[in-house]
Amino acid sequence: MIIPFFIMNKGCPNRCVFCNVQKVAGKQRISLTESAIRETVLSYIRHARREPDEVQVAFYGGSFTGLDRNDEIELLGYVKGLMDEGLVHSLRVSTRPDYIDEEQCDLLRSFGVKTVELGAQSMVDKVLELSGRGHSAADTERALKILKIRDFATGIHLMVGLPGDNRDKFTYTINRCVDLKPDTVRIHPTIVFENTALARACREGRYKPLSMTEAVDACKYALKRFSSANIPVIRLGLQTTSEMEAAGSIVAGPFHPAFHALVEESIFYDRACDLLSQRNVAGKTVTLAVSSRDISYMHGQKNGNIKKLTDRFQLNKIHVIPNAELQRGAMILI
Ligand code: SF4
Repeated sequence: MIIPFFIMNKGCPNRCVFCNVQKVAGKQRISLTESAIRETVLSYIRHARREPDEVQVAFYGGSFTGLDRNDEIELLGYVKGLMDEGLVHSLRVSTRPDYIDEEQCDLLRSFGVKTVELGAQSMVDKVLELSGRGHSAADTERALKILKIRDFATGIHLMVGLPGDNRDKFTYTINRCVDLKPDTVRIHPTIVFENTALARACREGRYKPLSMTEAVDACKYALKRFSSANIPVIRLGLQTTSEMEAAGSIVAGPFHPAFHALVEESIFYDRACDLLSQRNVAGKTVTLAVSSRDISYMHGQKNGNIKKLTDRFQLNKIHVIPNAELQRGAMILI
């Protein structure tokens, strides 16, 4: 069980063109006092459906290791207290690659931090520059190396559709990240939030966001590539907050509250097309078997996959049935 807390760096000195961290963190920002953290942790544990194997506190949002050092130590200390009581087992933080060095690693380790997630966003320096990130791809490589040497579990955050990005550059980013072997990856499309430099660029025609189809296609490639390298993609798309959904909050971009499902559904559509195109199925009723946990992906939102497949292959009907012997992602045409 991961219990997220969102930190706001006081006056982050960076100028990422897409950043509206308030919208992304949303209501999950709480006042990070010792008692508030404790209450939140106890509430999560009380309301868990079953006893969690591991309770992990996560500090997301700004850059944890960019906090004022005293604030950082204070927050780490609050959670260490909960660890000493046996309520929390481990700690996870997210930060920028250029805010990781040996000294930080020693500090994090001494307070029981197990996982460090790095906001790499892209592995192409020009894209990072145009996005105002203020760090390079080499910073990500260096930070990951330092973390791995010290046995931290590592995660990488990536964005698709940043200024200057294109399909070739995104493919390069994915392949470079596969080579770096992080333990997990999170990917989300670039969304244009109000009151950002990107919103201004968008209005002035200097930035064009990805369409939903482009974003799904790019993330489909990324998901398949990471999966084949046994690197779990633990999030696709931004976690929706009520602030994000408020009218006028999002100016443009491929935002969908179930973006991950859109990508998975598209992969299932492609698989079904591969199978159906190998047989003469026009005018027939066909049955596709998938894992019971993939039934909704096979159908697609509002039965979209079934409708598209029926039209494309001129089918009479498609039945989708669960098969307990199939692993997730597998499909059989019966
Ligand atoms: S994305 Fe992170 S590093 Fe960039 S401006 Fe926002 S808070 Fe600062």
